[in-house]
Amino acid sequence: MKLANSISKLGIENAFVVLAKAKALESQGKEIINLGIGQPDFKTPKHIVEAAKKALDDGHHGYTPANGLLELREGVSRHVKRLYGANIDASRVVIMPGGKPTMFFSILMFGEKGSEIIYPEPGFPIYESMINYSGAKAVPMCLKEEHNYSFKAEEVLKLINERTRLLIVNNPQNPTGGLIEKEQIDALVKGLKKFPDVTILSDEIYSRQIYDGKKMPSFLHYPELFDRLIILDGWSKTYAMTGWRMGWSIWPQKIVDEVIKLCINDHSCPAAASQIAALAALDGSHDFLDEMMKEFSRRRKLIVSGLNSIRGIKCNNPGGAFYVFPNISGTGMDGATFSDKCLYEAGVAIIPGTSFGKSAKNYVRFSFANSYENIEKALEKIKKIV
Ligand code: PLP
Repeated sequence: MKLANSISKLGIENAFVVLAKAKALESQGKEIINLGIGQPDFKTPKHIVEAAKKALDDGHHGYTPANGLLELREGVSRHVKRLYGANIDASRVVIMPGGKPTMFFSILMFGEKGSEIIYPEPGFPIYESMINYSGAKAVPMCLKEEHNYSFKAEEVLKLINERTRLLIVNNPQNPTGGLIEKEQIDALVKGLKKFPDVTILSDEIYSRQIYDGKKMPSFLHYPELFDRLIILDGWSKTYAMTGWRMGWSIWPQKIVDEVIKLCINDHSCPAAASQIAALAALDGSHDFLDEMMKEFSRRRKLIVSGLNSIRGIKCNNPGGAFYVFPNISGTGMDGATFSDKCLYEAGVAIIPGTSFGKSAKNYVRFSFANSYENIEKALEKIKKIV
């Protein structure tokens, strides 16, 4: 059997590897607290589940248009108008089975040998994996602890050259919880005027998970970019719907037909009942989101202060998402050793920083998508082993 060479260039998401290790320990009877997980530990709100049940009872069992149901695409248009004042025609919205296909397709569409794609580092591992797969050169945009994992627009602009096709921004950020504030996005958008051939992929999957009353600095606030802006967002993190596989994307009008071609070649369409549930999510009450964020805020305070109270650990306050990315170099261990020690000695699953980029050797990612009580217990256990 001879596989295509490009397959060997694909990477993985280490969170799934850690999850498998944790499950193996659990099956041996060990108690594991999972702080490696990248999904809200809340249930999908009831009105969304009910809408899916009704859709199935009503017979929505078949294919839908490849770009998604028109009602849902119009729902996304209304949603982004409400949130950001953006006027996006429903013809530019493509519903995807999750957030990931938007990443996969946009990198495939722009990446090839001889081209360059800029991506956040540390960052969601699939960016680099897909860029390598496409044959493009992966150019890291370094996010540093001392800047609270934001970037300076002028530093990002310096990475652009005539081969740059795509610039990937993730805000708020996985794995760091960093929030790039509006001021830097403003400066980046201004600087991008000089580079009209560069398309922006803005991964805004954590757009509704922002702390301290701040507003989401979405790229949808900049109509001047709309002819070269791709938005990745969806239902996974906002509505606790990771298993429903529902995402939405917004594309420059001139490439929508190409995107739809990719959808037809890849998945035909997202699941019909999930789409109807997704519309109920957009149009229904968002009160549960306030509840979820209240709880995440409480846990954020606990985990940041708890980690900072452990000798050798330095933890920033995340501006968004539900992750912290502490520097653990003061413990004398690197991130991989520290994570293994946490898993095998303390029974706490976390992810080593290098899963998100080579630069993050001395870091680890904790997710606080677990109960307050479990986070308290995990902190105690880690304190003991450190
Ligand atoms: N983008 C980022 C930054 C993520 O962290 C994730 C999931 O963890 C995704 C995209 C993919 O989301 P989905 O599960 O909807 O495919």
